[in-house]
Amino acid sequence: MPVVGATVGPGTGQDYAPHNLSSPPVRALVFGTDPDPVTSPLPADANRLEQNLRGTPMGIREIDDPEPIGPDWVVMRTRLCGICGSDTKQVFMDTGGDWPDAGMTAFISFPQVLGHEVVGTLTEVGPDAQARGLEAGQRVLLQCWLSCAPRGISPVCPACEAGDYELCWNFLDGRLAPGIHVGNSADATGGFGELVPAHASMAIAVPDDVSDEVAVLADPFAVALHSVTRTPPPTGGKVVVWGAGALGASAVAVLRALHPSVEICVVARTAAQQALVKQLGAHHVVPSDQEPLAIVEALAAWSGGVLRKPWDGLPIAHPGFVDNVYDTIGAPSTLEQALRVMKPRGWISVTGVNAPGRFEWSPWYFNEIRIVGSNAFGIEEVDGVRKHAIEHYLDMVRDGRVDITPMLTHTFRLDQWREAFTTLARQDRTGAIKVAFDYR
Ligand SMILES: [Zn+2]
Ligand SMILES: [Zn+2]
Repeated sequence: MPVVGATVGPGTGQDYAPHNLSSPPVRALVFGTDPDPVTSPLPADANRLEQNLRGTPMGIREIDDPEPIGPDWVVMRTRLCGICGSDTKQVFMDTGGDWPDAGMTAFISFPQVLGHEVVGTLTEVGPDAQARGLEAGQRVLLQCWLSCAPRGISPVCPACEAGDYELCWNFLDGRLAPGIHVGNSADATGGFGELVPAHASMAIAVPDDVSDEVAVLADPFAVALHSVTRTPPPTGGKVVVWGAGALGASAVAVLRALHPSVEICVVARTAAQQALVKQLGAHHVVPSDQEPLAIVEALAAWSGGVLRKPWDGLPIAHPGFVDNVYDTIGAPSTLEQALRVMKPRGWISVTGVNAPGRFEWSPWYFNEIRIVGSNAFGIEEVDGVRKHAIEHYLDMVRDGRVDITPMLTHTFRLDQWREAFTTLARQDRTGAIKVAFDYR
């Protein structure tokens, strides 16, 4: 098993190595190692995710002390790190179908220390990072993209120039191993470890009046913000949020804050998710644990769509009255159902990642529906102001427009990682929404 650490590539400031060699070893949850043996028997009612968790190639290891890989880098000590839906899918080896979501393997490298939803305290600050106003002891949020600037690529690509870090051209190049964000490059270890290295542009200061528990929810909020700013709903429109995990709940909060005239219906699975989205201001909730036909009927009834029945398969609202769908699941089934309730030329914004599969899409062309992908976040425009999505989140919590703290349902120490993931695997019973590792 190779040791994970900050591998220094050619021309990357090897001369800068101020870290303390006498410091204790750094512990991290490494993915891409031999599975740790588990001796306790699997509970009789264990589900597929719990079974997969047994064999996941992950365990706590001592890793090289992450250090700033150049004078414009910092190291932060993790305070809280949220477990993202993408981390969960990888750890559970849950591809959601027979065909794995394999395309992204072109852009990542192993082994990895996952975790990109990081709140930390700066422990080391390179001289160029100091010149940008960062200092040791400062509390920061990680802005996780491994785009041109962190990779030492200058001039930056047109996407980075425009603030669209998620569309950077250079995820395979420069001074870091392939990876799109912290946690999926072998050189940029994440918050499932005690220390996290980052480029100065990846550290966003957290104001003193924002707690760690509030700050740690910035990442899912930013993802939801991006999907709403890319495809905003019309004034007084009707929107459906599909899924009520961290992304769906955040989407409700974003819509309530920025588009208060819009009526929101959420398709939600667990009782805890249904209660949370109501608390955050959803007007209507449709349970997802029912037949697709019942979901389509419920959404048509809520929005006023008139259902027309084909020879076979699900009915189609004609006319339909749902303006926008924010699909945080992104499965063939959610797209098939969403297409059936849309207003002509409505927008479906897909933030969820799932395995591909066949679905019946005739309403796509027939009603000229626009299906668009939405990938994480970058610089966003809100009320005419352009700044990083995470900075918008901090502004919105400070001025009282947004409070998504009920989303953080569980925290665990890193040693309890199996418990943390079991809590997520049993979401229907535990009520888990956002689970985080707490190092404080
Ligand atoms: Zn995330
Ligand atoms: Zn770029």
